[in-house]
Amino acid sequence: MSITAPGRLSPVLSDIWDAERSWKLSTYRDHGGYEGLAKALTMAPEDVVAEVKASGLRGRGGAGFPTGLKWSFLPKPDGGPRYLVVNADESEPGTCKDIPLMLANPHSLVEGVAITSYAIGGHHAFIYLRGETVHVYRRLLAAVREAREAGLIGQGLGPNGDYHLEITVHAGAGAYICGEETALLDSLEGLRGQPRLKPPFPAVAGLYARPTVVNNVESIASVPGIVKHGKDWFTAMGTEKSTGHGLFSVSGHVKNPGQFEAPLGITMRELIELAGGMRDGRRLKFWTPGGSSTPILTEAELDVPLDYEAVGAAGSMLATRALMVFDDTTSVVRVIARWTDFYQHESCGKCTPCREGTYWMKQVMHRLEAGQGLPSDIDLLLDVSANIAGRSFCALGDASATPIQSGIKHFRSEFEAGTHTPAWELFPYEASAIF
Ligand code: NAD
Ligand code: SF4
Repeated sequence: MSITAPGRLSPVLSDIWDAERSWKLSTYRDHGGYEGLAKALTMAPEDVVAEVKASGLRGRGGAGFPTGLKWSFLPKPDGGPRYLVVNADESEPGTCKDIPLMLANPHSLVEGVAITSYAIGGHHAFIYLRGETVHVYRRLLAAVREAREAGLIGQGLGPNGDYHLEITVHAGAGAYICGEETALLDSLEGLRGQPRLKPPFPAVAGLYARPTVVNNVESIASVPGIVKHGKDWFTAMGTEKSTGHGLFSVSGHVKNPGQFEAPLGITMRELIELAGGMRDGRRLKFWTPGGSSTPILTEAELDVPLDYEAVGAAGSMLATRALMVFDDTTSVVRVIARWTDFYQHESCGKCTPCREGTYWMKQVMHRLEAGQGLPSDIDLLLDVSANIAGRSFCALGDASATPIQSGIKHFRSEFEAGTHTPAWELFPYEASAIF
């Protein structure tokens, strides 16, 4: 279920989520679905790219890279294939927007895929999905089949019938690292999913070393609305540099967790109110703006506009808008120990700082959680995390260091409470007493 911030936005991505059989093509079309594609196919591909570029849409997968700009990085057509790959491998702890979107309205993604492929001159698009989400896989397969049977994808598309498009839905095996775009491409090619060196970026050499656009599900599902209503409609929402609408996933210690669609720039205080307030009348202790990879924030940042710039200025990142809420009953050390377990488990092992560092951070976090930490452990954690951040091959390493660094910054005393003075310091061993 989605709730739209009252008075701030007519729902766009979530407009039909509560409709009966919202995932069917007929329901989507009854609500104006595929009108954006019909319009796009009458436009020159470069005009579609220009419209999305002018809308200011920024990648909704976390990094916030301008979507139209990314499309424009593709080299000039050389007669060979070029691809769109949709990153549907949503796995970040707390991030849970793309899966509901694909379940409730898969056709908004399929329409976005068709428009984007047309704009970049692609004829084969891939949707790479987490393998565990079999129910989403089936729903996407059914939506692609419905679109093909209705002549919305396949051969003879457009007013002149000269455009064609195939869409392949691919289920990965369920590894967090395969959400990293180049590991995803390796996995799609049948290789072990590990990040590639960048540059070259996928725009230049991506799937099968061909020019490839890799975009998040929500980014692509936002494209039909922009094409249908125009860039001005989109820029009228949000803030100057963070335009448009987005899904905000509020989870944790609130009364009614869920998806909230709102313009970028809404505040955490407003979202907590929309979610019914804090659970059991408790007090907020800390929250994440964009999942476990983003520095935690506290009550002091409740009124920060949730846009890329303001959250960055507040010392964190908007990223995936995965707003995990923790009340004053929560042990910060325990939460961060669980996240560290996750990163250690999901580290692909390619580079030493992340492979070794996550292992050591996990050991230290566990002994702090058990109250068996050493007084030197906090400095040790800061040292290990500083040697991971900025020194790892991909963003997973940086992400593993972030919660520990921001947790110690805000709640150092809780980490200190997990330490004890070891017996050998209380009763120092005097070798000279024996010899
Ligand atoms: P990034 O900033 O390196 O890249 C963002 C995008 O811009 C990529 O597609 C990249 O190819 C493109 N790009 C950047 N510079 C370019 C250039 N010069 N030329 C062409 N293309 C260029 O970020 P990233 O490592 O891809 O992603 C990190 C983000 O992913 C984090 O912020 C995190 O929030 C998010 N994330 C999301 C999930 C999830 O489940 N949705 C999971 C993990 C991480
Ligand atoms: Fe693999 Fe971690 Fe290195 Fe990324 S940072 S390449 S996940 S070992």
